[in-house]
Amino acid sequence: MATRKTSPRAPLRVLYVASEVAPFAKTGGLADVAGALPKALRKRGVDVRVVMPLYAGIDWNKLERLAGELTVPMYWGKARGAVRMGTLPGSDVPIYFLEFNRYFDRPYLYGPPGDGYNDNIERFTYLSRGALELCKALGFIPDVINANDWQTALIPVYVNTLEWSKPLHGSATVYTIHNLAYQGITDGGAMFITGLGREHYNPGEFEHFGALNLTKAALWHSTMLSTVSPTYAKEIQGGEMGAGLDGILSARKDDLRGILNGIDLDEWNPATDKHLPRTFSLRRMAGKAQCKAELQKEAGLPVEPHVPLFGVVGRLTDQKGFDVLAQGLERLLEWNLQLVLLGTGDREAEHFFGAMSARRKDKFRAWIGFNNGLAHRIEAGSDFFVMPSRFEPCGLNQLYSLRYGTLPIVRATGGLADTVANYDEATGDGTGFAFRDLNADSLVNTMGWAMSTYFDRPAHLAAMRKRAMAQDFSWDRAAAAYEELYLEAYRRRRGHAFGAEPPPPGAPRAK
Ligand code: ADP
Repeated sequence: MATRKTSPRAPLRVLYVASEVAPFAKTGGLADVAGALPKALRKRGVDVRVVMPLYAGIDWNKLERLAGELTVPMYWGKARGAVRMGTLPGSDVPIYFLEFNRYFDRPYLYGPPGDGYNDNIERFTYLSRGALELCKALGFIPDVINANDWQTALIPVYVNTLEWSKPLHGSATVYTIHNLAYQGITDGGAMFITGLGREHYNPGEFEHFGALNLTKAALWHSTMLSTVSPTYAKEIQGGEMGAGLDGILSARKDDLRGILNGIDLDEWNPATDKHLPRTFSLRRMAGKAQCKAELQKEAGLPVEPHVPLFGVVGRLTDQKGFDVLAQGLERLLEWNLQLVLLGTGDREAEHFFGAMSARRKDKFRAWIGFNNGLAHRIEAGSDFFVMPSRFEPCGLNQLYSLRYGTLPIVRATGGLADTVANYDEATGDGTGFAFRDLNADSLVNTMGWAMSTYFDRPAHLAAMRKRAMAQDFSWDRAAAAYEELYLEAYRRRRGHAFGAEPPPPGAPRAK
C-alpha cells in the first residue's frame, strides 16, 4: 500500500458516516459513493473507517461482533447497542455497523415508498451520536469526519457542542450534500430528540422558517462543505435548487467544493459484467449488439437490431423528471423506436408506466421494481439512456451509460451538465444529447435528434460511443480531490497543516 507523501508519521484518519453503503444497503447514489470512495481513499494511504446502521437484511452472520456494548445517550436514556464489524468488499477498509433493532430492524431504510418513518429523526440521531461514541470507544480520534446528507447532519453540530473540550472537538468536519431535497425537517418541538438544548433552536442553527432543519445546522457548523458536482455546487447557491438553503450556501461559498463522483469500475465494467449475456469493450463491440437483442427479448419487444432502443432507470420521483417523459410518451411511441424503463417510487408514476407498458407491448416495456442485474442489462443493451432530471446533484446512471457506450440524453443540470458533452452536428463532437428547458417538447425533440443521428449519421454515433467509453470516471480522481478537501478542512480546524508541528501557544493562527 502506498503511503502518504505529506505525512511521514501517521496517515490521515478519516471517519466516514453514511446512512447507506453499497453493497450492504442501498436506495440511491449515496450508497454507491459510500461503498467506493473510502476504498479509493485507502489506496491513497488514508486511514478511513466507515460507520452505518445495521439494517434488517444485512448478513450479520458474516460480521464480527465487537466485545461489549456501545452506550449512546438518547433523550430517553442510555441506549445500549451492539457493534458489528466487517470490511468493504475487496478492501481492508473497516466498516462498523451500529446494531439497535428497535430503530433499524425494519423492512425499509427510511420508510415505505414515498413515506418516511415517524421516528426518523430519532433513528438517525442514534447513528450520528453513536458514530462519535464509537470513535471514543475504539480510541480512534479522526482528523476529519465526513458526514453525508441529513441523516448524519448532527455530527458536525455535536463536534462543536457536546464534544466541546473533548478529543473529538479537534476533528475537522466535512458535510457532503448528495441531495439537498432531503433536509431532515420536522417540528420545532422535536429539538429535544437531538439531545441539544433549546437554545440551539435559533435561525443561526436549527430553526428554518418555523421548523427544525438538521441540514441547516450542519451547513453552519461544518468546517467545510462539499457536494457531488461543480455545477450543482453553483446551482444550490441560488434559486429553486437551493431548496431554501441557498442563502447559507452562498454565504459559505468559499468553503463549498463540488467534487464529481466516480463510479465503481469493477461493478460497472462492460468487459467483465456478470449480469450481461455477453460482455464487450472498446475493441470488441460485437457483444453490445447481442446485449441489445437479449434485452429486447427480456422486455418482450421485437428483436430489431436497427430500431433505436432507449433505456431509463431510476427512482420514479419528481426529481428525475419522469412526469415530463410521461407527457411526451404517446408522441414518442408513434416513432420507430423502443423504450424500456426500470423504476420504482411514486405510485401514480408506477401506475402510469405500468399501464402504458401493458397497452403498448409493441414498443414500450416498464418494469416496476428494483433490480440491479436488469439495471446493468439496460445500460448495456440500450443505444441511448434518458435522464430528464429536474435537478441532479451528480447522477451515476449517465456515467454508467457512457462507460457502456450508451449515449445519454440529459437535461443540462448539475452533474449531468458536467459529464455529458452535447453533440455537435458540425464536428461530430460530444458524448450525448442535452437540452435545457424541462418540458415534453424539449425532451421529445432531443430524443428525435438522437434518432436522426442514429439513422443519418451513424459514423458520428460510433465515434461518440468510443469517446464516451474512453472517459475516466475512476474514484482515484475523486479520492484525490476529497483528500485535498480533508487536508484543507484539517488546516482550518487546527490552524496548521496536517503533519506539520502545531504552532506554539500564542502564535498567530493560519487563516
Ligand atoms: P439517485 O441517487 O438520485 O437515485 P443516481 O443516478 O445518482 O440517482 O444513482 C442511482 C443508482 O440507483 C444507480 O446505481 C442506479 O442504477 C440505481 N437504481 C435506481 N433505481 C433502480 C432500480 N429500479 N433498479 C435498479 N437500480 C436502480
